[in-house]
Amino acid sequence: MPKKSARSIKQLHKDARKYVWHPFTQMREWEQELPLIIDRGKGTFVYDLEGHAYLDGTASIWVNIHGHRHPTIDSAIRHQLTKIAHSTFLGLSHPSAIQLAKALVQLAPNGLEKVFFSDNGSTAVEVALKMAIQYWQQCSSPQPRKTKFIHLGLAYHGDTVGGMSLSGIESFRKPFSSLLVPEHHTVHTPYCYRCPLDLQFPSCQMACADPIETLLKRKHRDIAGIIVEPMVQGVAGLIPSPPGYLKRLHELCQHYQVLLIADEVATGFGRTSRMFACEHEGVTPDIMAVAKGMTGGYLPLAATLTTDKIYSAFLGEPHEGKTFLHGHSYTGNPLGCAAALANLAIFKTERTLAKVQRRAPKLSAFLKKLTADPWVGDIRQCGYMVGIELVMNQRTKEPFPVTDRIGYRVGLAARALGLLIRPIGNTMILMPPLSATLHELQQMVDILKDAISVVRTSTHTEELS
Ligand SMILES: *Cc1c(COP(=O)(O)O)cnc(C)c1O
Repeated sequence: MPKKSARSIKQLHKDARKYVWHPFTQMREWEQELPLIIDRGKGTFVYDLEGHAYLDGTASIWVNIHGHRHPTIDSAIRHQLTKIAHSTFLGLSHPSAIQLAKALVQLAPNGLEKVFFSDNGSTAVEVALKMAIQYWQQCSSPQPRKTKFIHLGLAYHGDTVGGMSLSGIESFRKPFSSLLVPEHHTVHTPYCYRCPLDLQFPSCQMACADPIETLLKRKHRDIAGIIVEPMVQGVAGLIPSPPGYLKRLHELCQHYQVLLIADEVATGFGRTSRMFACEHEGVTPDIMAVAKGMTGGYLPLAATLTTDKIYSAFLGEPHEGKTFLHGHSYTGNPLGCAAALANLAIFKTERTLAKVQRRAPKLSAFLKKLTADPWVGDIRQCGYMVGIELVMNQRTKEPFPVTDRIGYRVGLAARALGLLIRPIGNTMILMPPLSATLHELQQMVDILKDAISVVRTSTHTEELS
């Protein structure tokens, strides 16, 4: 591969600053650093224009599963390209989407029988919400009053208006309050790791689920569904729910005739060491949204799965208005479907889940070393999803002032040492590709440890000068 000349690299750096606006990025702060421009990837590593290697500790924002440039996925996409790159899914079909839908149904929790494709996690959630609301208008004993949703405090369900309305992270919503769909119900649980009731699991008997039951008792006639990130809230900073919580939600939903919507966008495809997080508690949700890992981190593709019961409520004569009127230009894109099929095939050939189940406890052991660091206040893990919370005081868990930008600075220090890791606030989120070797996992943790030390040393030096 011909190396890029120093001149063309300089031009790219200049144009990156001049023309591009990045997501979830304060651009003034970003412009102060030399942009990191990724040129290629291989396995767990990505490489910048100059050829420096970085461990992909974010799995390219939680999407990569089997590593970069996996030959099976590469060639599946190439093969699809010899046929067609895209044809519409509005009324037409194609083999890759049919095979993928079948494969997803076979893998999904028992009872999810139909697959509705879209393009990303936010739209998969949006589809789930619209499906739930329309279902209640058209089911055999219609309950059109059921239009509200319950979501958890600190939940994250995407950036489109519906998903944003059901996200609990205030800073993401604040400027858009005029757009948000009002009158949903926020329930501020579960927070085992810093329980507001100051109770201990399991003697608390999961008191954090009680407010949901109370709410359902009073309002279930207005409530279409409960949406939840099963087992662990991701963007909240990696917050696991207490064992049995998901199962309890499921029972409450069944008892009060409310749909359970599992947002598996982050947790799906092996992240938590099961194919889908719902499996940990043997729960089949009524609707399940998947996206991030679906194509192994190759192409934007998402799906919303549901039961035959919900699907049937949408059947009728064309003039009856029961049709699900939702879709996107690139719904069911064939290249994406081909990548997703290859992604699923690799789970079998490389026994990915068994590997993750074997390695996740070893990752925990590596992470344990970090607890010796005075800034590490908490380490939370669910399979290959890890949050390392940095605090000013390990004992009191007093947070750093936001203006100190500790998480951001640790991320930059790690990058200089060869690890990509992105914080949420001051929680460093480690999401390795599921294919990462034990050695690579250990390297990631070691670099993070060093990066924290580097930032601490420079902070102390600043204070002294
Ligand atoms: C990332 C994420 C989304 C949004 O997915 P996008 O593909 O970024 O739109 C929704 N829900 C959860 C739980 C997520 O982690």
